[in-house]
Amino acid sequence: MTRPTIPHGRYAQRLAQARAAAAGAGLDALLVGVGADLAYLAGYVAQPLERLTLLVVPTAPGSPVTLVVPRLEATPARACPAAAGAVTVATWEETEDPMAFVGAVLAAASGRPARAIDAVAVSDGLRASFVLGLQRSLPGARFSLASVVLRRQRRRKDDDEVALLREAARAADRVVAHVAGGRLIGRTEADVAAEVRERLVAEGHDQAEFWIVGSGPNSASPHHDASDRVIRAGEPIVIDIGGMLGGYGSDITRTVWVDGGEPALGPHPEFVRLYAVLRDAQAAAVAAVRPGIAAEAVDAVARAAITAAGYGPSFIHRTGHGIGLETHEDPYLVAGNAEPLAVADAFSVEPGIYLEGRFGARIEDIVVCGEDGPILLNELPRDLWVVRG
Ligand code: ZN
Ligand code: ZN
Ligand code: ZN
Repeated sequence: MTRPTIPHGRYAQRLAQARAAAAGAGLDALLVGVGADLAYLAGYVAQPLERLTLLVVPTAPGSPVTLVVPRLEATPARACPAAAGAVTVATWEETEDPMAFVGAVLAAASGRPARAIDAVAVSDGLRASFVLGLQRSLPGARFSLASVVLRRQRRRKDDDEVALLREAARAADRVVAHVAGGRLIGRTEADVAAEVRERLVAEGHDQAEFWIVGSGPNSASPHHDASDRVIRAGEPIVIDIGGMLGGYGSDITRTVWVDGGEPALGPHPEFVRLYAVLRDAQAAAVAAVRPGIAAEAVDAVARAAITAAGYGPSFIHRTGHGIGLETHEDPYLVAGNAEPLAVADAFSVEPGIYLEGRFGARIEDIVVCGEDGPILLNELPRDLWVVRG
């Protein structure tokens, strides 16, 4: 199986688009630090160090895009896909002031002294110490957030990004299928979580990111940390796991009922009812996905179904979040977000119902908004799965 990749030429296109959007917003430059925006624009994935790494994207026509890195990071920086033509790598020495260095790079690109730079946007995750340093070296500049310019572009996944998200989703499907189909009774949540981490990597992820295993009453806590609790027959388990594959995230939740008892300890009647409500709510929310629908309207569909069944107060989180280079990114499916969904948005649809102290359930799939409606990336069945444990 060959993994999909982002062709090198794509980075030049992304940079050109970002530049045009930044120019349109009246900015002199985008200043992008280590993180998802840098991975998106340059394919450069780096450690977030205390030494400054910054992609300087000036908007002046014809000006070069410069990846400013500490001297000791020059080798990996020059190996990033965008360095093959789209960006120039410039290194600052250990004894230099990197903020003044960036000021000089920007001055050279714009043909104006650093103090005459009017407006820049910084990536949302840029460290406060870097932002304050840049504010000193660009004393006349107004600072804003680069997400204002980049979010629309990052939301719209291209075919290669969707292929990577799909591959990540399928890999996560296999992990859930394997773990839920294996032995569970008598093991601790933490032990099952360790298996999840191993299998996420074995199935193709570069790394595991999260491994929620909530059994019995712990299933009612949405972000439960896998604990030393021993799994028993006659209770549900919420399994919510994900990792990164080729830079793109997976995120799936399935809730299973562990039987395996003698006599059989099948699903509690209230759990069966709750799960059926949840199953229908999740399916209805997925089915509502189409270009132009407000993000909050998808949340409302899931919430209406759950509320009509009397479980409204037990659905205690938003319905979903965007996913891509980050596990949580735009768009958020939450009341108050009236932004319309658009073709090639990728996001989770993950309603849940939680009865504190008793049990809970969540069903989560990754969905891409297609021209004609939802495209589900996860394929694992969603009906109540009673496992032997
Ligand atoms: Zn979550
Ligand atoms: Zn999840
Ligand atoms: Zn999620």
